[in-house]
Amino acid sequence: MERIELGKIDLSSPELAINGGKRVRDRGWLDNFTTGDEEKMALARVIDSGYLSKFEGSHTPDEPFCFYGGDEVRALEEEWNSYYGSKYAISMNSATSGLYASIGALGIGFGDEVIVSPYTMSACAVAPMVYGAIPIFADVTDYGSLDPKSIESLITERTKAILVVHQFGIPAQMDEIMAIAKAHNLKVIEDCAQAHGAKYRGRYVGTIGDIGVFSLNVNKTIQSGEGGVCITDDEELHYRLALIRNHGEAVVGSAGYENITNIAGFNYRMTELQASVARVQLKKLDSLNRERVELVEYLNSGLREFDFLTTPDEPDWGESTYYVYPLRFNPEVAGVTREEFVEAVNWEGIKFYQGYVKPLYTQPIYQRRHLFKNGYPFTAPENRDSKVDYSMGICPNAERLHFREMIIDEHIRLPHTKRDMDDIIEAVGKLLSP
Ligand SMILES: *Cc1c(COP(=O)(O)O)cnc(C)c1O
Repeated sequence: MERIELGKIDLSSPELAINGGKRVRDRGWLDNFTTGDEEKMALARVIDSGYLSKFEGSHTPDEPFCFYGGDEVRALEEEWNSYYGSKYAISMNSATSGLYASIGALGIGFGDEVIVSPYTMSACAVAPMVYGAIPIFADVTDYGSLDPKSIESLITERTKAILVVHQFGIPAQMDEIMAIAKAHNLKVIEDCAQAHGAKYRGRYVGTIGDIGVFSLNVNKTIQSGEGGVCITDDEELHYRLALIRNHGEAVVGSAGYENITNIAGFNYRMTELQASVARVQLKKLDSLNRERVELVEYLNSGLREFDFLTTPDEPDWGESTYYVYPLRFNPEVAGVTREEFVEAVNWEGIKFYQGYVKPLYTQPIYQRRHLFKNGYPFTAPENRDSKVDYSMGICPNAERLHFREMIIDEHIRLPHTKRDMDDIIEAVGKLLSP
């Protein structure tokens, strides 16, 4: 697209709020409120029933308690399946639990490696380690998700899975990732915590790999306070996820299930209360997504004309649903640093954040190679030959995005409107030299 030549940023004008001028916006920003009367009624229905959970960690439980949970939990799972067209949905108490359970269900453990993204939520890289496996960080594209080109050279005999995140709600390049997985016989976990209802070439993300994992925490597009859901089309994976969710070690004996590797059951169970709220939220998903996408497109059209910004335009392979608004800043074109730019914009009443999360390998776990006592899992005999490298520079794109280019805005969510987006566009425009 043709760009209008604009003046550089000039932070010296006395009109700017940072220099004592009047700010563009005096109103605050709102959080992600998506619940209302319908959720209240759903909760009342559960409270009135007296059963806030109906889970029991046993193969032959007493009615009405059940290994698979109560009516609300099972209804949520059925409704999730009918939305996504998946065969099995397994609710969890968080996406973190869902990620841990997925690694467990796939039988991954000591001596194995899992390829993960460094530019995402920390649990994605911890999940393999919980079972003794080693996370290997591949780089990301400018959209923020795993770059298929950076995956292949990291694959060794130890690699068992790729954990791909549809970062910011923008679908990752699944055809390329699935082709690599197929060629090397790897499992694929899709983290869709930020991508409810997003589509890759017409298919819902979460339905393409072996397991899709969703979050229902308070910040996500739909929420039940805390919560998560895994989906899969594989019957045994479904059963293993259910075992890990609910005290599987106490169940496998009487159930006669032989493949007990990794079946230490946790309590990852969702309550009836959360499930009842999540069911209402799922019904709102398409309209919530539509409103978000509209705000993103509106903001894109307003910010696209600034040649020092790169807006998150839709990749041709996807329909994104946008968890947050990931904007890229070019300091060379702007003539100021990202720090200076964000500070001046925020003085105008905007709330931009610099970067997303520090590349995960900079965390102490990786720098010190220490999670459990004595440095396990890194020091486990099975993992000793793992050629892990967690030094600065291993994922240059993630580092460039985080330390130089990425700016995040969270306000492309209800209850915000296009008027709020206008404030952002106006504040950025105000920084240009006349
Ligand atoms: C929020 C998030 C999670 C964790 O979700 P919880 O339900 O809070 O455990 C995992 N992965 C990504 C990419 C997330 O954004």
